[in-house]
Amino acid sequence: MRLETLAVHAGSRIDPATGAVAPPLYLSTTFERATDGSYPHGWIYVRHGNPNRAALEEAMAALEGGATALAFASGSAAAFAVFQALSPGDRVVISKDLYHGLARLFREILPAWGLRVEFVDLTDPAAVEEALRTPARLVWVETPSNPMLRITDIAWVADRAHAAGAWCFCDNTAATPILQRPLALGADGVVHSATKYLGGHGDVMGGVVVLREEDAFARRLREIQITGGAVLSPFECWLILRGLRTLPYRMRAHSENAMRVAEFLARHPAVKAVHYPGLPDHPGHAIAARQMTAFGGLLSFQARGGREAALRVAGRVRLFTRATSFGGPESLIEHRASIEGPGTSTPEDLLRLSIGLEHPDDLIEDLDQALMEKPH
Ligand code: PLP
Repeated sequence: MRLETLAVHAGSRIDPATGAVAPPLYLSTTFERATDGSYPHGWIYVRHGNPNRAALEEAMAALEGGATALAFASGSAAAFAVFQALSPGDRVVISKDLYHGLARLFREILPAWGLRVEFVDLTDPAAVEEALRTPARLVWVETPSNPMLRITDIAWVADRAHAAGAWCFCDNTAATPILQRPLALGADGVVHSATKYLGGHGDVMGGVVVLREEDAFARRLREIQITGGAVLSPFECWLILRGLRTLPYRMRAHSENAMRVAEFLARHPAVKAVHYPGLPDHPGHAIAARQMTAFGGLLSFQARGGREAALRVAGRVRLFTRATSFGGPESLIEHRASIEGPGTSTPEDLLRLSIGLEHPDDLIEDLDQALMEKPH
């Protein structure tokens, strides 16, 4: 089945009790045992599993083309669980440009678990070869990366990782399975912040891991999910599954709008640089065109005039909202360096845009007035 069809039907069945077409929400934390002590319906306790979580996990496995999926309380919890499933002393190679919250996890929390973490520019083949000369257990790719929109060649990195005896995992939050399917490109696992496009409406937090194989690592991860307890609540699962139904059409519109905005910004005299893989002069454009079906709704640009100019633009927008996160219907603008804090490598003149589902001409007009030299 094609992705549009999977998005509508995966994880869905008519409710046998009532005939309901939309999935019922099961809030019960516990499930009745039979007189012989067995669980005739297959459910025990909500942390172990519930019908809404099973439906979301089934849908995500289908969309990513994996054998199994696991839903967590957030994207960060999903990523954390993957690393908790590794062993002390394991060496992990991490994409250099990535979501700063995960960078903090890798820098400040995981080394205390005995993991040896090395940040490497995975867009640089020589750096990848060099890093994989030392044994590694896992290579963590984020592409397109947040907030610099760098593109990593998933197939090539997965191939090099496998040759070195390592797994390759890909944070697919920015692309979603609609635009990019890392497992088909050779990755072993995919991680999502479902808080972004999967939920898609800015009103739910969640995370998902999808694995190529139902193997010992998958069993370990499920044990961590269930016993560790950072699971996704039934209502959040229900909301994210609802979001998935329209994901292909939303991703198409986000991508078309972002391309229009990127082209506008690339021509604007007050803009120093635009980072969007859909632009032909983006250094990762050829790879992105090969491994993605469209370029997504996230982009960033650098304003001429440094930090002050960037903050001025963010201060003048009327339609965009100044807020963090991305993936919702409404467009957002954010000065990343100031939220990432001291020590960030994000340029001070950079603004990240989450391009929403408004009409692109309205977004362009708003940015145009915000980029004008004179205050209104
Ligand atoms: N991965 C990426 C690429 C992100 O942008 C984020 C959050 O912004 C995360 C993971 C973490 O997700 P969450 O905020 O759901 O924990």
